[in-house]
Amino acid sequence: QADERESMFMVSEYARDYFKDIIHNNPQGKAIGLSYFKERGFTDEIIDKFQLGYSLDEWEAFTTEALNKGYNLKYLESTGLSIVKNDGPRAKQFDRFKGRVMFPIHSMSGRVLGFGGRILSNDKKAAKYLNSPDSDIYHKSNILYGIYYAKQTISKEDNCFLVEGYTDVIQFYQSGVHNVVASSGTALTEQQIRLINRLTKNITILFDGDAAGIRASLRGIDLILEQGMNVKVLMFPDGEDPDSFAKKVSSEELKEYLNNNAQDFINFKVSLLMEDAKNDPVKKAGLIRDIVISISKIPDRIQQEVYLQECSKIMDISESVLFSELAQLNNKQQ
Ligand code: ATP
Ligand code: MN
Ligand code: MN
Ligand code: MN
Repeated sequence: QADERESMFMVSEYARDYFKDIIHNNPQGKAIGLSYFKERGFTDEIIDKFQLGYSLDEWEAFTTEALNKGYNLKYLESTGLSIVKNDGPRAKQFDRFKGRVMFPIHSMSGRVLGFGGRILSNDKKAAKYLNSPDSDIYHKSNILYGIYYAKQTISKEDNCFLVEGYTDVIQFYQSGVHNVVASSGTALTEQQIRLINRLTKNITILFDGDAAGIRASLRGIDLILEQGMNVKVLMFPDGEDPDSFAKKVSSEELKEYLNNNAQDFINFKVSLLMEDAKNDPVKKAGLIRDIVISISKIPDRIQQEVYLQECSKIMDISESVLFSELAQLNNKQQ
């Protein structure tokens, strides 16, 4: 079993090298893959650092090359790099990531676990991002994109910025913000938060400034609180995501924005939901309950109390009411 996994790592790392080589040494790779990353504003240095690459727009260019190099079709298939079709008289294999720019996904220690591949056109027929399928080495809900590059700075800064996508991580890194990881397409999971928990107790959620991003932040908050961690939230202007924002401003401006706009989760939830609730007692009651539910996820009772006081002030509601609501929830959870 350990041997099988090692073989899967070997083939994934070969693929990483192959896709990387294409953007530097293949005419199509240079014209399409490298140009794409340059247009996104990535420097040569950062393209190299994150081991970005390109999978040619051909049916089996990679698979054929890998087989020629002696890699076993079994592992090409189990890592999902190749798709084997058996419907004809003889088996035929295809490249999963045909015509996509490639983002290798690393383990905490830098092994290649899988890939994210992005189509170049904004054509809506195909999924924008395609990921490696789950396998013995790649479990999408257990990993965070960028953790290998971010881990030291997360510990040093004692804070982790959590974003949605690959390009958000890379653009931040290029702007000098290195303590950043992405959940990459999955709703944030408990295991992903546990990975961060080993490095810091503090998470700042930076989701996209759209409805989906806001929904994702709200879900993330309770999961983080449940692990006894501290959570802040920072929104970007409507229509911006961390990547597009970081690309527009200088490194100093970005850092300043991050320092000045992070909100504690209570303030975030209240200001977000209060807008349409403030003149509606029923909605306001719902919001208060919602926030007390979040507070009840915090394992530490003293911390609960501190948040409760905060909440009472912001929402102008007596502590004793909040307290009895919280006590009920605490009892339910036991
Ligand atoms: P880009 O800036 O390249 O257009 P993004 O990172 O801003 O992409 P979003 O649409 O905000 O993309 O999605 C956030 C993340 O969700 C992506 O980085 C990717 O990991 C994942 N994702 C997006 N679309 C898909 C998809 N169709 N299938 C799987 N994962 C996806
Ligand atoms: Mn989005
Ligand atoms: Mn985005
Ligand atoms: Mn984006």
